[in-house]
Order: sequence, then C-alpha cells, then structure tokens
Amino acid sequence: MTGATIQAKNGVNGAVSAVLKSLKDSGCVDAVLVPTRVKSGETFVYLLIRNPKMLDSCAPLPPVMPVQGARALQSLTRHGKVEQTVLCVMRPCEVRASIELAKRRQVDLENVLFMSLDCPGALRTRDYVNDPEALDKRYQGILNNWEGDGLRPTCETCVHFSCEDVPVDLHVGLVGTKEEEAVIIGVSKRGEELLDKAGIECSEDVSAWQVEVEKARDKKAGNRSKVVSELKDKAAGMDNLGLLFADCINCHNCMRVCPICYCRQCFFDSSDQVRLRAEDYFAKAQARGGIRFPGDMMQFHLGRIYHMGLSCVGCGACEDGCPMDVPVSQVFAFAGDEVQKTFDYVPGRSTDEPIPTLTYEEDELHEYEDA
Ligand code: SF4
Ligand code: SF4
Repeated sequence: MTGATIQAKNGVNGAVSAVLKSLKDSGCVDAVLVPTRVKSGETFVYLLIRNPKMLDSCAPLPPVMPVQGARALQSLTRHGKVEQTVLCVMRPCEVRASIELAKRRQVDLENVLFMSLDCPGALRTRDYVNDPEALDKRYQGILNNWEGDGLRPTCETCVHFSCEDVPVDLHVGLVGTKEEEAVIIGVSKRGEELLDKAGIECSEDVSAWQVEVEKARDKKAGNRSKVVSELKDKAAGMDNLGLLFADCINCHNCMRVCPICYCRQCFFDSSDQVRLRAEDYFAKAQARGGIRFPGDMMQFHLGRIYHMGLSCVGCGACEDGCPMDVPVSQVFAFAGDEVQKTFDYVPGRSTDEPIPTLTYEEDELHEYEDA
C-alpha cells in the first residue's frame, strides 16, 4: 500500500481540511459532508458543505461524536440517491453503520464516497460540553500518544478504528506517524483516482504506519477480551441483565441516537400492544409482589438487541446519549459480538456481504439442531 505524507502543523483537522479543499477544487467532488464545530463551540454537527471556504472551519476528527454520521447520511439520502458526488468524512464506525443502513435500504450509496481517519475513540459528549477547552487539549494528547483518559468505554475496545475491513475510498492514517504529519491513502480505485485528479501523488511506502496500526489493534483486542469476559458473567441470565439495566428510566434516547435502529415506525413508540391493561398489571403485581413502571423496560432492550444485534457496530452512541449512565453500548457490543461470530458476519465490512437474517440458507447452523 502506498500513500502521501500530509503536513499537520495546524493539527489533523487543518491537514484534512486542506486535502478536502484540493478535492473540491479538482471538481471531482461536488459537496463534502463533514463534522463541524457549532458557533457556540460546545459541540459538533455534520455540515453538507458546497462552498470550499467553509471547509476551513470543518473538524474531520472531532473529540466527540454527538451525531452518528450514518444518521446524517440517512437524512441526506432519505428520498433515494443523490445526484451530485458527496464525500462523507467519518469515523470508521460511522462508515460501517452507513454500509449496514444501505443493506437495509435506508441509505443510498450511489454517488457517495467515504473518507475515514484512524480514530483513537471519542470522549463523552456530556464531559465535553462542560469544558470544551480542557477536553480539546486532552484529545490532542490522546491523538499524540494514542491513549489517554476519558474515552468512551466501547472506543477502548474497538478493533475497527482504521481502514482494514472498512470499505472506504480514502483514509487518513494517524497512528504512529511523526508529530505534525499524517498519511493519506487512496484505498479504493475511486479513491486513488480522486487523489490523482487533486494532484496528490501517493507513491510513499506506508508499511511503518501499518505496523503501528497492528500494534494498536492488538492492544484494543486485549482490552476487548478482558471486557467481554467480565461482561459474560455480569450479563448472564435475566436477573443479572436486569441489574445492568436497573437505572434505566426508559427514555428511549439510546434508540433515537443509534444509527442502526432502522425501523421507520418503532413498535415501542407506536403500539398499545406493549402496554398492558390495568387488570393485567394488577395480576403481575399480585404474582410478584410489585412491578416497576414504565413496565416494558427489559422488553425494549431485549427487542432492540434481538432486532439489530447483527448490525451493531459498537459505536457507543447509545451509551453516550444515556442520561443514566447505563452501560448500554457495552451490553449491545457484547451481545452483537456473540451473534455476529455465530454468523461469521462483520457489520459494515463490505457492501456485498448480505445480512445473514435477510438471506435464507438451508445448509447452516446444524450445530443447533439438537439444542
Ligand atoms: S446499539 Fe449502540 S453501539 Fe450499537 S450501533 Fe446502536 S448506538 Fe452504536
Ligand atoms: S438505557 Fe439510558 S437512554 Fe436507553 S432508555 Fe434507558 S435510560 Fe434511556
């Protein structure tokens, strides 16, 4: 694999913004969908940018992820394909979520290109809004050393933080590169053509960066095994699961921010079937001594796990949006991992890989026949 060194004297965001401008000026990209800091400075949103001057203020790798990029792309392509070429600049988990949504026909990828960046993880949004300046500094330290405090728990265990197994066109490598430098790589044929047209020659060997990515991945994989084995005990059985979700107030924020929660009309928001009649609640209370309200809390979480566990990309948006600090993304990522391994499926790995539950195969899962 070859790439080109880009100077990052003004930070990663400045370096990537310069590349985006070159791509826009070359005429091969009509618009860029990219995170940008809001005017108050306290958070970031996705901006669809057509005016190259506005790229000066974009933040391709913000310290937080208050909006999951797949949700932004879903809104953009809600009515079908876009007619102009859009380059989406996203974290790898956001690209993977977009791929999953495309397979579920909720995102249209025609004329859409992806650029990702090596992602050390994101800080918690609630921490960030309390002190953006201090957390900007902290995140810079994390980018320099590829570790540090305050990252979301699922980010600490994410092994898909670079471009391997993520179908992007362009990627910006950051792990282990020299201070004030990054590498840009054309991952797909289209990506190589884009860089060529923008006059960015990619002839440098990037194997040193690849070695550093492997090392960082080994570390994250170690964190992941540890967390999974701890969760295996903590989440085993309904009683334990109930304890993990005990603080849940059933606000459904986790569902609203999740990029994968794909139903256009949610059963839990729309149906009276989930709400029992008063006499049924009385009967349950009689049998158990008492019942909690709202009553469908566990049904909600189990329904969501069952529904979208195969496509969960472990982005952590659900836990970040939870007002009660329920470890919801850790449980989902763990449950998702189990079911994804069963089907040898990695969500977002490829647009050509069908979602197992949407395809019928007669000859599979024989190991469960006698179970
Ligand atoms: S369940 Fe949570 S971790 Fe999984 S895709 Fe949705 S928001 Fe991300
Ligand atoms: S887990 Fe958190 S965000 Fe989800 S419903 Fe419960 S309290 Fe709300």
